[in-house]
Amino acid sequence: MRPNRKIRLTPPARGWYIAPVEPQSDAILSLFEQTGAYLRGHFRLTSGLHSPEYLQCARVLQHPRHAEALGAALAARLRELAGTGGIGLVAAPALGGLIIGHEVARALGVRFIFTERDAATGKMTLRRGFSVAAGEKAVLVEDVVTTGGSSREVVEVLRDAGAEVPAAGSIIDRSGGAAEVGTPRVALATLRVTAYQPDACPLCAQGLPVVKPGSRPGA
Ligand SMILES: [Zn+2]
Repeated sequence: MRPNRKIRLTPPARGWYIAPVEPQSDAILSLFEQTGAYLRGHFRLTSGLHSPEYLQCARVLQHPRHAEALGAALAARLRELAGTGGIGLVAAPALGGLIIGHEVARALGVRFIFTERDAATGKMTLRRGFSVAAGEKAVLVEDVVTTGGSSREVVEVLRDAGAEVPAAGSIIDRSGGAAEVGTPRVALATLRVTAYQPDACPLCAQGLPVVKPGSRPGA
């Protein structure tokens, strides 16, 4: 068998991220375990890579008390990272960031807006009359950061709209701390998740059917 080709992520620029390896990470993961949000099997990720593990945040966030607690924890970390001057709003990409973004905003006592991907152009946009004031401080919130791609897009949308974006945060960082989103970033739990190119996937080699998480009934 060929050696497994694991994905390498480019190391982040110095000072551009915080990768907390702290007791809190264990508590977060055990919460995912308890709520059936930590799935094991053979999954095709959004990136096209295959993985034996998947974190389905929606399963944790279906419990409002867990969503509220995670939002409060993330809000505290974002407040530290964003520094002085006060956070004016929270923004998140729909659909994944909606619940946790809303809970972070609740904990911070600020408003919450979201971006959507335009069906025609594929670009992230602010719709529904959402706007930001020039110089307003916005923090970006996501459920999971994998490559940081969609987070980066939202940061750009906010900056184009005139906001400052001093910080970003997610419940889970699947990149092992490597993903860059264009602003300092925190996560409640930082993980390094195994992922394979499909042509080098040992689970495919075993003939196990691959599942796209989120589209499977019950997952
Ligand atoms: Zn596979």
